[in-house]
Amino acid sequence: MPVSGLPPYDDGNIFARILRGEIPAKKVHEDDHALAFHDIAPQAPVHVLVIPKGRYVSVADFAAQASPEEIAGFWRAVAKVAKDLGLEEPGYRVLMNMGAHGGQEVPHYHVHLFGGRPLGRMVP
Ligand code: IMP
Repeated sequence: MPVSGLPPYDDGNIFARILRGEIPAKKVHEDDHALAFHDIAPQAPVHVLVIPKGRYVSVADFAAQASPEEIAGFWRAVAKVAKDLGLEEPGYRVLMNMGAHGGQEVPHYHVHLFGGRPLGRMVP
């Protein structure tokens, strides 16, 4: 169950369907804890999404309920994907959206990994 105040996890969400192999994705990495694939509507030359394999709605849910192994594995996957895609130098941006005001559209926790050009100073 998600933490209080969040909607229950919906197994029909698009990322759950990608995890089950029901719809295709341009995968760049997969391990026990995470799957990474190219965003369908890229906002930078490199725009990859990294998702945990567990059923977490948002960062709040993930932080509250995932095991230390899942959390560590997830973030190691984020850093590995960035390195493997050649982004470590000159750098990249990781972003997550949470809930309505954060603009989260897909209710399966994910981070966006952007790179491939200077991204500028981040403002809301
Ligand atoms: P959010 O606003 O943080 O939830 O971001 C959801 C992201 O998922 C957006 O950047 C979408 O372009 C992306 N997206 C939605 N459907 C698909 C898909 O089927 N494959 C890959 N990316 C998707």
